[in-house]
Amino acid sequence: MDLFEYQARDLFEKHGVPVLGGAVAETPEEARSAAERLLPEGGGKVVVKAQVKTGGRGKAGGVKLASSAEEAEQVAAQILGMDIKGHTVHRVMLAPAAEIAEEYYFSVLLDRANRTYLAMASREGGVEIEKLAVEKPEALARVGVDAIEGIDEARARDIAAQGGFPADLIEEVAAVIVKLWGVFVAEDATLVEVNPLVRTGDGRVIALDGKVTLDGNADFRHADHATLEDSHAADPLEAKAKEKDLNYVKLDGSVGVIGNGAGLVMSTLDVVAYAGEAHGGVKPANFLDIGGGASAEVMANGLEIILGDPDVRSVFVNVFGGITACDAVANGIVQAFGLLEERGDEISHPLVVRLDGNNADEGRRILNEAQLPLLEQVDTMDGAAQRAAELAAAGR
Ligand code: GDP
Ligand code: MN
Repeated sequence: MDLFEYQARDLFEKHGVPVLGGAVAETPEEARSAAERLLPEGGGKVVVKAQVKTGGRGKAGGVKLASSAEEAEQVAAQILGMDIKGHTVHRVMLAPAAEIAEEYYFSVLLDRANRTYLAMASREGGVEIEKLAVEKPEALARVGVDAIEGIDEARARDIAAQGGFPADLIEEVAAVIVKLWGVFVAEDATLVEVNPLVRTGDGRVIALDGKVTLDGNADFRHADHATLEDSHAADPLEAKAKEKDLNYVKLDGSVGVIGNGAGLVMSTLDVVAYAGEAHGGVKPANFLDIGGGASAEVMANGLEIILGDPDVRSVFVNVFGGITACDAVANGIVQAFGLLEERGDEISHPLVVRLDGNNADEGRRILNEAQLPLLEQVDTMDGAAQRAAELAAAGR
């Protein structure tokens, strides 16, 4: 999960990283009263910053200075509602303006390709960092970080020195780097980036912008992370699926996909997209893994979510019987039809079912015998994908 800047700022503060005060506003009026509080600390200036989960806000006009509460209100009115790279601005963060002497760059991230962590640092931070990385890569130090050793003070000094930080600032920057590594570890992040890390006119080192990605696999260790989720962004179907503990991701096609096992569902998406090419570019409508169990209730919940998607025209249920055999899954499907009828959510689109693996023959027999409306069986994955794509195209 990516965090907004203001959430990253809060985490930084919690772990002792030097930051400026901050306040979040959703309306120009709220921005005005926040500015009134923050102006003194900013020497009569505040900065108003769009809160969107994308970079380049400064260049897009989403970061502006204001010298009075009225001006902060006006600037907030301009920024709220702005579209930055496809992200609508619903909130702004206000902070006392910093007097920036120099802008640096620091990040630490999970380096999947090298199976380790990687710290990056540069004396030349700021809004041109991407350009710097391409045109002057030697100015952006890349230092591997061992997961067990982490970043202690000596390592942090080494990173700062390799990043070309001014000699008189190495101690102070190193202390901040150690704190940022603390955020990375304590919060189970996969990315902590500060750009710019600034030296202020009066010689302090402050994290002026923060980008943090948290590892969702560690959510069980962080009850407080649930509150960081963005209510504006959640797709209603995804939210409903989450409530029912289903692994569901909405996509933009029209063939609903249900399978047991993430790998099988992933490859089902591929075969549906491939089969769809012959039918005017029909695509999968979602990813939904109902896991190993595939009980009637889970199947009914899955079908309910998928059929709740107005873009869906057909559904492909792709099951490979393993520990849960196909006869159990077939019974689950039959009962799911009954459950949905009871809930008043009748099956409204054709369903193509492919059963294979453990006890497939018995599973197919059960489905044939049940004579469910709108349900067809196809024995191969490719054949079923083609049929589902064809039905989706016909249902448009
Ligand atoms: P980004 O463009 O999305 O990365 O947003 P940033 O928060 O990094 O802001 C972009 C730029 O705005 C920074 O590199 C600074 O040059 C400038 N900026 C941000 N906050 C302040 C501030 O408090 N005072 C001043 N003078 N400039 C700021
Ligand atoms: Mn930035």
